Amino acid sequence: MEKHRHCLNCGISIPPEETFCSERCKDEYVKKRKKIIRSQQIIFFIVFAILAIYIGINIFK
Ligand SMILES: [Zn+2]
Repeated sequence: MEKHRHCLNCGISIPPEETFCSERCKDEYVKKRKKIIRSQQIIFFIVFAILAIYIGINIFK
């Protein structure tokens, strides 16, 4: 059985020692991940802000 991996970005078959099929694909994947991390940080910040406002309102009642 032939051993191979799949490119983490596009899923194409690649040699087992590789993680991506090309540098371009690697760049794309890193950019995608950064975007996901960034949107998660924004969601976390919004939740934190709402929580802080909620707690603030309740403390000064
Ligand atoms: Zn690829």
